[in-house]
Amino acid sequence: MPKSALSPLRVATIVAFCASIPLGSQQSTAISAPADVTMGLKRDPALAAAIAEISAAQIRATDSVLVSFGTRHTMSDTTSNARGIGAARRYLFNKLTGYSKACGGCLRVEYDPALMEMRGHPQRPMVNVVNVIAWLPGRDTSRVVVMGGHHDSCICSRSDLGPLARFEATQDAPGADDDGSGTSAVVELARVFSKHFPKGLETSIIFVAYSGEEEGLYGSTHLAQRLHGAGYKVVAAFTDDIVGNVVAEDGAVDSTTVRIFGAEPDNGPSRELARYAWATGTIYNPSFHILPVFRLDRISRGGDHSPYVSLGDAGLRFTERLENYKRQHLPTDDFAHVNFGYVANVARTNASVVGSLAAAPAPPVALARRDQASGGSKWSLTWNSVPSAASYEVLFRRTYSPTYEKVYPVATGTSFLLPDQLDDGWAAVRAVSADGHRSLASTVPPPCPTLATRADSVAAGDLIRNCIRAPGR
Ligand SMILES: [Zn+2]
Repeated sequence: MPKSALSPLRVATIVAFCASIPLGSQQSTAISAPADVTMGLKRDPALAAAIAEISAAQIRATDSVLVSFGTRHTMSDTTSNARGIGAARRYLFNKLTGYSKACGGCLRVEYDPALMEMRGHPQRPMVNVVNVIAWLPGRDTSRVVVMGGHHDSCICSRSDLGPLARFEATQDAPGADDDGSGTSAVVELARVFSKHFPKGLETSIIFVAYSGEEEGLYGSTHLAQRLHGAGYKVVAAFTDDIVGNVVAEDGAVDSTTVRIFGAEPDNGPSRELARYAWATGTIYNPSFHILPVFRLDRISRGGDHSPYVSLGDAGLRFTERLENYKRQHLPTDDFAHVNFGYVANVARTNASVVGSLAAAPAPPVALARRDQASGGSKWSLTWNSVPSAASYEVLFRRTYSPTYEKVYPVATGTSFLLPDQLDDGWAAVRAVSADGHRSLASTVPPPCPTLATRADSVAAGDLIRNCIRAPGR
């Protein structure tokens, strides 16, 4: 195909918005979405078969056991097998180990402990914060996709307990939604991926049940730093956190939409990950809607994706569309109010993006320069060659378009003369494998890297002459 031709995805010159998405609700909060958000990504039948096996009953069974431990507070009992976070983590470890046995040992299940000081506690105790991890090694073990939820719980909103409610570790804190729902979804993904892909995919996948989230993202901070310290490239880090409530306090209902939170900047990796997840979710689970939210998290809230985002990785949060604040961080966050059909749909959406990314090549690193031959009105894009890529694609969108509107295939070579005026839009480059899996896209111009040392500047090379500097830097 000649470079100037557009792929069939072309929706560029028409701002086409489809009809509002129906909510499972008596409320009529209409959401409009662009006509085509799939960015030219393709459906993989093997991944679709795995997604079809995701079971609401399995997720429900896991959550019911987690809730049965009474409390899973990070500082709760670790010796009992019936109550507390020790019982919960051993249950998760054993469950994941059972999946590994069923796939011939394909998962590497481990406890990931870290002794951490509880900030804000009057005695500042050191607490053993223990994540439970199952690795599904890929062909390229240097790159990892991290899919997590947090298994600790709290009753930190019990105002009658005063400022130490955060550290109340003995009374019941069921955490059925927060975050029994997300943890149970991640366990189900581990079951289905280990069964369908026992030899792994291109990239390693880490399924993780974090601890210490409620006291300050301790477990995820530890794992993000551990992975960086060991030299892994974190392709993406997802958290499922509160993914099972469908009824808000005011009676509004939405059982057909999940929110995804993708942090700034608009040309950064988390935002690209949000676009990618929007596309894969729409392709593989089209009746379940995605509401992309282009910010790190809900206002004044946090989650286990953010330690990765802080380290420059692509991070994304999945959260129910409607929260019920009368059932958060309270004894009322009970099993009866989790909708497991909804959680299963969130898990299907998770699987679509985790599976697509893990099967894809690494993204290229791309640069854009004004093309002198055209008097500077056109831009030349160049990128590095990616080992497992068979070809590349260049994407383009206007700055006000939430996702890409054009796809230009590049069959050979690692450069492209962009016909669109880049000053008015964003372009991106992605790698395509021989079997059609697409990497995350690398935006051009990219955000400027943080340069602390002379070595950073040298490593950044051409990038610092072609990046977009954040205002004020
Ligand atoms: Zn949570």
